[in-house]
Amino acid sequence: MSEKRHDNRKDDELRPITIKLGVNKNADGSCLLTWGKNVILATVHGPKQMFPKHLSDPEKAVIDYKYRMACISTPERKSPVPGKRDKEISLVSGNALASAIMVEQFPNTAIEVNTLILTADAGTRVAALTAASLAAADAGLPMRGMISAVAGGRANKSIVLDLDKKEEDAPDAIDLACAMLMPQKEIALLQMDGIMDIKDYKLIMENIVSGVDKVYDMQKKALIEKYPLEGEINE
Ligand code: ADP
Repeated sequence: MSEKRHDNRKDDELRPITIKLGVNKNADGSCLLTWGKNVILATVHGPKQMFPKHLSDPEKAVIDYKYRMACISTPERKSPVPGKRDKEISLVSGNALASAIMVEQFPNTAIEVNTLILTADAGTRVAALTAASLAAADAGLPMRGMISAVAGGRANKSIVLDLDKKEEDAPDAIDLACAMLMPQKEIALLQMDGIMDIKDYKLIMENIVSGVDKVYDMQKKALIEKYPLEGEINE
């Protein structure tokens, strides 16, 4: 028998999400996103000169994406030095975001994306990508669509959407992080933690696809609120 979720959410229910755009005046675009207890700041600088120059690409802008957890993001203080996990997440997230930005319009440049996890409660890589995509749109970068992301999985014998840290720590927990280019519904990132059978995978993906739709709706709403005159976003 599946158990009730500890925070009384339905199995396919997201945690509450808030989005604030343009919060950092030093950046070309920024977003402060809260997702349950997660708090994330994403900024975008550029396109700007690539440094060092030999790393530039004559065909497109290079997305320099950084996922970092602040020292104060977890109850136990995190090292300020980025570890292997931060570097791996930065790499795959940068590739995912590059599929949304029209990087070919800015050859030989860099677009610097910083996502700082201020408070973590699981699902931070997908929340960071969601915030980074909003910051890129806030920066006015030409985009093919938005990156909308969510994690789904299993915890306490139930197939659930958007696991928090308590659920991620369940003995039977599995976690599938997924980012999609929207509205095209193309998968831009898919990472799995744990072992699952095909039946569970299908159920989890169904939850994720409907969760991504909801995240995308919230992103559109936030952008239309901030930029009412430019409010037409392709369906
Ligand atoms: P993701 O689900 O994208 O991997 P998490 O927030 O689960 O992101 O993980 C970020 C890191 O912080 C992991 O090392 C995780 O174990 C840790 N972490 C996240 N939330 C908490 C928390 N509330 N207490 C302790 N550690 C946490």
